[in-house]
Amino acid sequence: MDLKSLFFVLFIIVTVTAHKKSYKGYKVYNVIPNTKDKVNVLKDVESNGIGEFWMEPYNVNHAVKVMVAKEKQSIFLEQMEKTGIETVEVIKDLQNVIDNQQKPATTSRSNEAFHSMTWNEYHNLDEINAWLDELVENYPDIVTEVSMGVSVENRDIKGIKINYNPNNNYIGMLEGTLHAREWISPAVVTWIIKEFLTSNDPEIRALAENFEWHIFPVVNPDGYEYSFTDDRMWRKNRNTMYNTTCPGTTNDDMSNGVDLNRNFGFKWMTVGASDNPCTNTFAGPQAFSEIESRNIAQYVLNLQSQGEIIYYIAFHSFTQLIVIPYSHVDSAGLLEAENYGDMFEIGIRAAEKAKERFGTEYRVGASVDVLYPMSGTSFDWVKHEVGVPFTCLIELRDLGQYGFLLPQEQIIPNSLEIMDFMLEMDRVTKNLKYYNDASFINHSIFVISFAVYIARLL
Ligand SMILES: [Zn+2]
Repeated sequence: MDLKSLFFVLFIIVTVTAHKKSYKGYKVYNVIPNTKDKVNVLKDVESNGIGEFWMEPYNVNHAVKVMVAKEKQSIFLEQMEKTGIETVEVIKDLQNVIDNQQKPATTSRSNEAFHSMTWNEYHNLDEINAWLDELVENYPDIVTEVSMGVSVENRDIKGIKINYNPNNNYIGMLEGTLHAREWISPAVVTWIIKEFLTSNDPEIRALAENFEWHIFPVVNPDGYEYSFTDDRMWRKNRNTMYNTTCPGTTNDDMSNGVDLNRNFGFKWMTVGASDNPCTNTFAGPQAFSEIESRNIAQYVLNLQSQGEIIYYIAFHSFTQLIVIPYSHVDSAGLLEAENYGDMFEIGIRAAEKAKERFGTEYRVGASVDVLYPMSGTSFDWVKHEVGVPFTCLIELRDLGQYGFLLPQEQIIPNSLEIMDFMLEMDRVTKNLKYYNDASFINHSIFVISFAVYIARLL
């Protein structure tokens, strides 16, 4: 190879690899602010570009995880020590954990595969979308391709409709991956699709068949793709319109995105959201400023005009929670949904069922009780605007040991317990009479007709 070609090859290698953000030397710390003042000091950590939160600091005595770059660690630790906030290092080298999460799957592919999809590793957007196409092709009578429209970078927000019975009036909707880095979300959602199409369990069959299901594994396709190609820890969408200089850092890329789960038009920007593009909870300049949140909302409104939405579930990670509307709190206190009691009962009983399988605990409650108050979220908007009987946001595994970097080996266990959750959710919702079970009616009609037939014979 001559010198010119060598330079060319080196140039290609550098340009191909340089744009992917390295987290080498980054650490994740656990901190617990025990006073309101300490909470406020923590909030400045992100806006000053010193660290990024894995969960927001809001409540006194609530643990918060903060990710800090190598060169910022001494200033971070110094500030924490000065304020009297104790820090515990939970991840020593973030890049190591990232690499581990993406190592090629070691277990055999055969027993977990369904067409081109597997659940022993994480899959990128193209793989997920190609799989959805295969399902449409292979189940033409049951599976239909659906779309919410496009993202800000013009990617299709693609989903599928599963409908076994054209007379179904009841609708269930699953929203995956509103936040890009929460990779367990599309993994669990695709598992549910597979179960709905292949399971022989009569209860899963009934859940699949009694509803027209609208399932979107990835509603933030730009962010999800970006979390594979450029920045594993990306959360928001990829709208570059609000780009600005972020203080204390050379990384202005942080401002290229809006937190879609703060952008919906219910109680927008009132609490637990930020007007600063350099934060992970930037709510956008106004409610529904983002094409993705507008498209989700429009899709839900269209659906509601075609039938009755019974379930709307948004899948996130992490911290193992079943979050029930509403998430907002103000001087008047917590805003409770009108059937909060029923939703709480559904959530509690379903979470108990989920725990039976592997002992995994999911706490249940309004966001202010189990997480932190927030506003402008999709599931609150759906509850308020459409009045869906059971709406929740599920924070999947784990409790923070790996956080967003949940190992591949946990995809299937997490999916299994969530399927248990959904079955119990449906049992309780049905018992509370939020919908009439068609198979039960058919069964009753059969029993009555049979009794009449016998009576005539006598
Ligand atoms: Zn999330």
